[in-house]
Amino acid sequence: MDKFNENNQSKICQSPNCRRKNQPLDLEEFYHSPNGMYGRRAKCKECHNKIYGPKNKIASLKRQDIANRLPNDLTKEEEKKIRAYFKGKCALTSSKEKVHLDHFIPLNWEEIPQKYGLSIGKTYANMIPLSRNINYSKHANNPFLWIKKVNIRKENAISMKAWQEVIEYTSDKQNMIPQEFERRVMLCYSEVWTRDRIKSLNRVLDKYEIGTKKRRVISYNALERLLKHGINLNVAVNKFGSDKAKCFINEETTLIKIREIKDTMIKRNMDN
Ligand SMILES: [Zn+2]
Repeated sequence: MDKFNENNQSKICQSPNCRRKNQPLDLEEFYHSPNGMYGRRAKCKECHNKIYGPKNKIASLKRQDIANRLPNDLTKEEEKKIRAYFKGKCALTSSKEKVHLDHFIPLNWEEIPQKYGLSIGKTYANMIPLSRNINYSKHANNPFLWIKKVNIRKENAISMKAWQEVIEYTSDKQNMIPQEFERRVMLCYSEVWTRDRIKSLNRVLDKYEIGTKKRRVISYNALERLLKHGINLNVAVNKFGSDKAKCFINEETTLIKIREIKDTMIKRNMDN
């Protein structure tokens, strides 16, 4: 039971494959994590690197691959112009520390925003200066939803006034009025959201064999979430689904489940 020795501030690595299993380790052996016991991760650095090291590398290669496909024509002059517009400061916090140019519309959204008439990639229209921690926090999120989170604005001391200025500046570069720019980003995001849900369904179907309870529970939850968002499952799976997902969507038991979810949704709507 007692896995943590509070007096010596050491903890035991929770990875079942740890080389130093059940051995109390110095806290320095664990990476920081705000939600973890003693503010550290559950797995020791060694185990963490073993598990996530290769994944991080894949993620960075993937990011590079996307960046290579998207427009990338920001000139040195344009970069100077963008930085000068915000007086060399972070566009959202006015901090002068570690200010980088960041994509307003995330790279991770790939080509999808182009369909909605939005400029993406490393272009004059899509870059804004942000301090590094803001850049990390914003990440692949929908900027318009990210900024609505009060804790994010509080933690980083971002004012809505600064945000509105960024939106006016960015939508102007995108040749739109701010309302139209937001409308298009939101529309585009709905497709990105669907893509991400289907991608995670692909992973579930890859991970769990047919007939297992885990496969059923997780995949059916995913279907329910998509249906509740009014997503056409066939269209979405055809577009973003793996071969396994395309088979899954036509399995007898899946079809029954989809019918069931839809019937429940209809009943609920009638009750309201
Ligand atoms: Zn370990």
